[in-house]
Amino acid sequence: MELIDRRTFAGTPAFADKPPLINFVIPCYNEQAVLPETAARLGQLLSTLKADAVISAQSSVYLVDDGSKDGTWATISELASRHADFCGIKLSRNRGHQNALLCGLMSVGGDAVISLDADLQDDLGIIPDMVRRFRHGSEVVYAVRRRRDKDTPFKRFTAEGYYKLLHAMGVQIVFNHADYRLLGRRALEALRDYRETHLFLRGLIPQLGYPAAIVEFDRSERFAGDSKYPLRKMLGLAWQGVTSFSAFPLRLITGAGMLVSLASIAMAVWALLTRLFTDMALPGWASTVIPIYFLGGIQLLGLGIIGEYMAKVYEASKQRPRYHVEAICGAWRETDDDKDLL
Ligand code: UDP
Ligand code: MG
Repeated sequence: MELIDRRTFAGTPAFADKPPLINFVIPCYNEQAVLPETAARLGQLLSTLKADAVISAQSSVYLVDDGSKDGTWATISELASRHADFCGIKLSRNRGHQNALLCGLMSVGGDAVISLDADLQDDLGIIPDMVRRFRHGSEVVYAVRRRRDKDTPFKRFTAEGYYKLLHAMGVQIVFNHADYRLLGRRALEALRDYRETHLFLRGLIPQLGYPAAIVEFDRSERFAGDSKYPLRKMLGLAWQGVTSFSAFPLRLITGAGMLVSLASIAMAVWALLTRLFTDMALPGWASTVIPIYFLGGIQLLGLGIIGEYMAKVYEASKQRPRYHVEAICGAWRETDDDKDLL
């Protein structure tokens, strides 16, 4: 058994009687079109929250450049040099939204971190409510979309169907919640211990446990630029969610295998009876060819799915780092507590 660090559980948290240090983490991939507006609105929000003593004056925004090919990093560096509330982290190349987000979450200090997208689709207005929930003891606060009326019918249908499918496969997931959430320090430290190569944070966070709360919001349309989640990446993430959290597809193969075997036994009995008791036992083309195709198809499907899981084991066994930081910018503020952590 690992030793318990008793300091973690000692007394009331430091923010019980003063505003908590809340940092914001925003992954950005080719977001130069939207960043100035995002920064302006966040800067404004931070000033208000600090003036209202909702968050501590040390709170900052960390923009993680996920190997962008446009002027995103130049925009971030310029912002960080002008505005003390903004800092930047540049990844050495594009590692994908989930890894960029993880890098931000693992690299910044503070009592809690709020993660959100760069494109202003997430309603900033609910942040005071999220912080309030945190102060009342919720270690994780999920921001959940109330409606999907801004989505195309296709996206709405596939997204909702997907959440239901995951649920049916036994994956614990918060319906209509993406990556807009608050994580307290304890949840962040717990997350550090999960070393999976294929990250699907929205499936992982509910596994942490801890008291959690939900705050609802209406999602707007992307303020500028195009979605960085084309169908291909979307399907990739969806598949990640299924295969990282559920062995259901593997069981499905076993089930299908059993059914097909039973069907073949029944067919063999039928063929035998026909042979023995009737005179219609012409060797039929259909009854030979159909099972060959059918079994061939099932076997290939089965092999494919097993292969997918094997590939995951292979990737995971390499234990490669999930990201590399190339540069940072801005005035990183650390509390004394954070110094122990980082
Ligand atoms: N993103 C990223 N790396 C990627 C793709 C996306 O960091 O490889 C970021 C992107 O900049 C944005 C967030 O992930 O802040 C969500 O992407 P987007 O808004 O394009 O997704 P959508 O809302 O269309 O699903
Ligand atoms: Mg978006």
